[in-house]
Amino acid sequence: MTDLARLRHWVFDLDGTLTLAVHDFDALRRELGLPLGRPILEAVAERPPDEAAALRARLDVLEAELVARTRAAPGATALLTALADRGARVGILTRNSLANARATLAHCGLDGFVDAADVLGRDEARPKPDPDGVLRLLARWGAAPAGAVMVGDFRFDLEAGRAAGTATVSVDPSGAHPWAALADRCVASLEELLPDVR
Ligand SMILES: [Mg+2]
Repeated sequence: MTDLARLRHWVFDLDGTLTLAVHDFDALRRELGLPLGRPILEAVAERPPDEAAALRARLDVLEAELVARTRAAPGATALLTALADRGARVGILTRNSLANARATLAHCGLDGFVDAADVLGRDEARPKPDPDGVLRLLARWGAAPAGAVMVGDFRFDLEAGRAAGTATVSVDPSGAHPWAALADRCVASLEELLPDVR
């Protein structure tokens, strides 16, 4: 088992990881006229530039509407408090926009745990599964991948962590963990990580 207790640098996905999942990605795809079964950001990027810009703006609006329905995930506040108590650095890497990520963190009462500059959205780094955002945070912190972990609820989170060379934690309330092969730890909730960091 990966020893999470020794890790001082923690990168979290936001939606569905630190927060309860409220995104219905297929509903978003239908609303945007995008094909089902394809990642949204990549499908948008394949459209002509004017259309892609309009789709991105519409996506920003649709995701902003979800912010008010978002709640902190069970254990999120306790885990971030425990990490802060032991002096760990915490960053957020999301495929959502930076504005929506900051609004979500504030709405959930989690904004006080993360330096504003340690929140990276889809325009601040190449989107996951690219490891760019993880590596940017580690560079900012002067940290090595071996001392870091990426925590997320989707394949892209785990792939980004693996590609960056960090440990990875899969969070799946259903317990199914379809991408367990990419994860060093599998937990049903962030509460399960508390014993590791206390
Ligand atoms: Mg997620």
